[in-house]
Amino acid sequence: MKTVTLPSGERFPAFGLGTWSIGDDPGLRAEEIATLRLGLDLGATLIDTAEMYGDGRSEELIAEAIAGRRDEVFLVSKVYPQNASAKGTPAACERSLRRLKTDRIDLYLLHWRGKVPLAETLQAFMRLKDAGKIRHYGVSNLDLKDMQALWQQPGGDGVATNQLLYNLTRRGIEWDVLPWLRQRRVPVMAYSPIEQGRLAGKRKLAGFAQRHGMTPAQAALAWLLARDDVIVIPKTGRRERLQENLGALDHVLSAAQLAELDRLFPPPEGPRSLEMI
Ligand code: NAP
Repeated sequence: MKTVTLPSGERFPAFGLGTWSIGDDPGLRAEEIATLRLGLDLGATLIDTAEMYGDGRSEELIAEAIAGRRDEVFLVSKVYPQNASAKGTPAACERSLRRLKTDRIDLYLLHWRGKVPLAETLQAFMRLKDAGKIRHYGVSNLDLKDMQALWQQPGGDGVATNQLLYNLTRRGIEWDVLPWLRQRRVPVMAYSPIEQGRLAGKRKLAGFAQRHGMTPAQAALAWLLARDDVIVIPKTGRRERLQENLGALDHVLSAAQLAELDRLFPPPEGPRSLEMI
């Protein structure tokens, strides 16, 4: 499995498992659990969730999927901005730990910036880290200005990642926040890497994929995986699709293929406000 290095030097898989909406439909539950377990078997041991997803149902389903295998997993969860205060953060973390049936979260993220000052959230994260409840902390959906503000605060330069919307049709971050993070060796976790499934149905991408012997979803993921400091976290609740998506790791794109994708999905020509889903 390809790995990405955290600022701390720890390495973890560049391919993780997204879990938004997992656990919402009882009829899909067995297949969703089997998919997560297959992911672990195949080395995709990073699982991304949040207290927001299904009001905790995603975390509960993950607990069931990883029962007896906790030590194999790098668990990522997120606190709602409205909970990210000095008192609210540890309380939210405890609730997530309970739902996940574990004693620690490997990486705990601020889901997006809200009204609570960043300094207060950082302090809460550092306390949780000292207490061993979380191993690393980070942020999500922070643009360049937010990152610069964060960096000024105590502990701000200790963030392990910024989880951002990033795929072939959402390249705005390449203009500013991505190079800024790269300079500081902070990896990006690319969410919605296949644009919530929509990229799999894009004709332009299907043509590229067919020319180069892969599926559109594989092409979308391989394009992100061509970067050393980007982690992809596609979501699927189906084993067959997980295997297809993991196949992206077998397609290391050449410079010519990357240039072809740049022509089909051009990089930004100027600053854009940060996109979120
Ligand atoms: P995504 O991973 O780009 O796409 C997931 C959708 O695509 C699902 O509907 C899935 O359906 C479908 N899909 C998966 N593989 C496919 C394939 N090979 N061919 C066709 N369709 C396929 O979108 P996402 O779930 O929004 O993003 C991934 C993860 O990032 C989330 O699950 C979540 O963990 C995280 N996220 C974070 C934020 C944030 O604010 N930090 C925001 C959004 C997402 P099936 O399940 O039926 O296969």
